[in-house]
Amino acid sequence: MFEGLTALPADPILGLSAAYQADTNPKKIDLGVGVYKDEQGNTPVLKAVKQAEVEYHNRETSKVYIGPPGSAAANELLQALIFGADHAAVSAGRVRTIQTPGGCGSLRNAAELIKKANPSATVWVSDPTWANHIPLLGNAGLAIKTYPYYDHATKRVNFSAMMDTLKDVTKGDLVLLHGCCHNPCGADLSQDQWQAIAELALQNGFTPFIDMAYQGFGEGLDQDAYGIRLLADTVPEMIVSSSCSKNFGLYRERAGALSIMYASSADADKGQSNLFSLVRGMYSMPPNHGSAIVETILGSPNLTATWHKELAEMRERIKSLRALLNQKLQEKGAEGDFSFIERQSGMFSFLGINKEQVHSLVHDYSIYLVDSSRINIAGISLANVDYLAESIVAVLKK
Ligand code: PMP
Repeated sequence: MFEGLTALPADPILGLSAAYQADTNPKKIDLGVGVYKDEQGNTPVLKAVKQAEVEYHNRETSKVYIGPPGSAAANELLQALIFGADHAAVSAGRVRTIQTPGGCGSLRNAAELIKKANPSATVWVSDPTWANHIPLLGNAGLAIKTYPYYDHATKRVNFSAMMDTLKDVTKGDLVLLHGCCHNPCGADLSQDQWQAIAELALQNGFTPFIDMAYQGFGEGLDQDAYGIRLLADTVPEMIVSSSCSKNFGLYRERAGALSIMYASSADADKGQSNLFSLVRGMYSMPPNHGSAIVETILGSPNLTATWHKELAEMRERIKSLRALLNQKLQEKGAEGDFSFIERQSGMFSFLGINKEQVHSLVHDYSIYLVDSSRINIAGISLANVDYLAESIVAVLKK
């Protein structure tokens, strides 16, 4: 039966990773795959996670299923992390959270529920957006349209163009927004811009759908949740897909959550029952280990303090690398203004060079990045930044 299938091209990022592994150039740099890396290029297990794993190991008495929503305690702790302690919508029972297999599992669950609630819903996504948004939402059968977002000329959000498109989006449709640290462009919304979007959502009745994959990687845990909390104060309904992959470094454990704020607790009960049924039909129960670790950390003041410190270290490292790359490019006489790299936020920015220049970086300099020129800032280090800046300066002259 499978002979009729057509082979599909490999995922470009995974292909890039394989090429990087095979490259014997000692100067090679991997700016492709979107995982955090330390100065040595490693993605270590956080200390808070290691300690929580020991505690959890000693406490765990059974491997019995945890049920479609996962652990109630973990979900409550994640709600507080996302919405802030004691948010009125949470206290009113309007926010319901389920544990999901990573942020991807959350986005896919949300898409399935949207499809069930409104089969003709369109999800509006930013241009550009994270590539996997398209299959995660589209494979559930949802229509997807784009709104203008990043202006490659100014290296900023083209907010007037964005609002001009969103002004025609109405009730029944959704607008997907990156909570912080936009992937791939690194340009985030200002507080005033969040305010304008919240007002428009309220006025037009569309449902905000927030993808929060990098909480704590931008300005801080609370600062990064500004947009979510403002929306939760303003609109009747919203969806938040959150991931614990980056901020807890739990990537392969597949820890994430889907939090939906409903207009009433009666709607919330209906929504939850539908989600449970969808989950049963897809993977039955979420994986436990990652969220059990998150629950152990967030439930312990000591482990939370350790985690906050480690998260701050990751955030500060990214920020300092942004400043350093901009400085080195200036020092080495790069043509053009690269201050946007320092101004932008999170793990990613577009270098803003063309495809030929990207290919030259890959083939002539062993610096691996995707065709769009998106770079993972965490792949830069004090040891490689000079070589990176010199190579960029060289390809800019081509
Ligand atoms: N959304 C965005 C924007 C992401 O970059 C990622 C991870 N690359 C995710 C969601 C999902 O992450 P995961 O499924 O690994 O938790």
